[in-house]
Amino acid sequence: MRIFNTLSGMEEKATSRDGNLRMIICGPTVYDFSHLGHARILLFYDLVARYLILSGKRTTAILNITDIDPKISLRAKEERSSAADISNRFIKELMIDIQSLGINTLCIARTSDYVETAKKIILELCGKKRAYFSNGNIYLDTSSLVSYGKLSQMSREDLVNSRVDIAPGKKNPNDILLWNGIDDFGQKYYDKSLGVGVPWWHMQDASVAMSIFNGLYDMHGGATELVYPHHESLLAQLQVLTSNQRPVKIWNHVGLVSINGKKMSKSLGNIIRIRDLIRKYNSNIIRLYLFSKHYRQPFMFSQSELNKFYSTDETIASALWKEIGSKIPHRRTRLTKEFTSYIENDVNTPAALKLLIETAREGESTADLRYMVRIFGLVY
Ligand SMILES: [Zn+2]
Repeated sequence: MRIFNTLSGMEEKATSRDGNLRMIICGPTVYDFSHLGHARILLFYDLVARYLILSGKRTTAILNITDIDPKISLRAKEERSSAADISNRFIKELMIDIQSLGINTLCIARTSDYVETAKKIILELCGKKRAYFSNGNIYLDTSSLVSYGKLSQMSREDLVNSRVDIAPGKKNPNDILLWNGIDDFGQKYYDKSLGVGVPWWHMQDASVAMSIFNGLYDMHGGATELVYPHHESLLAQLQVLTSNQRPVKIWNHVGLVSINGKKMSKSLGNIIRIRDLIRKYNSNIIRLYLFSKHYRQPFMFSQSELNKFYSTDETIASALWKEIGSKIPHRRTRLTKEFTSYIENDVNTPAALKLLIETAREGESTADLRYMVRIFGLVY
């Protein structure tokens, strides 16, 4: 499969180092219910993983869930609850959404389970003089990182101007916060060398990657808005930790879903929750709608467009019902080859979906249709 790599700006073949294709996907921060934007990411990588597995490639796809974050503590404060109660509650809710969307290819990693690794690798970076203490925080020194900014296509000057994690005592304005020992937002960990604090966002992902894959893997996926500073900082940390300039081969990103031209956000009150969609539509309709757009294309949600997929779902169901006993073909046919070529070409789901719908309408190649339905994760 060829898939777009944000790092090189080109489509590249997704290959494994040793026969097991390893992926990490940035999932939601668990302080609220998951929404349509999350569904798009979850369903897209579920499709990628399912396609690879069904094509006979061993694949390990990890969904990374951030459960250490000031937003979680803020919600806890609002609800007079604890951060642990909030994150536990919304992880449970996320699992319900994942199940109701029929996603079964992603393994969950909760970042708070990897704090011990975070402490260990932060100390290792300090020992190598690649990280430093300043006013209670610890930062990664970015001055010696030659390719820092490449993923987000930012020059040194752009990076200086963008200024992340603003705090006094940093050696360079774009040095990356690894351990936050200053801000007290209700989630605390302790280490005798590091003191009290929390591993910061990008370091949480680095800890998961180091624990599970030794920091070397084939694909990292997530929303486009995560390219900078999140993925740029994660890549920098992994480069130092693994002494490898290309610890992750492909960085892949999924476009934004907006509503009336605006980003979905809690403060604007325009969030479409996965569970509200599931109440009205089934998971097939949601998949069909989201796969009708190319994953890299940002798009605006349209209720009327979504509604159109009711009848598509029925067309597919009735085509399959006509020939209940038909089996997925053992050998590739002309139609399955064509379908596969679209998926192989940067996961072109709109073209693949068009063929799937045509095949359902014609109603003559039910066995081929079953193959397509299975790759799309549709359930009949
Ligand atoms: Zn992440």
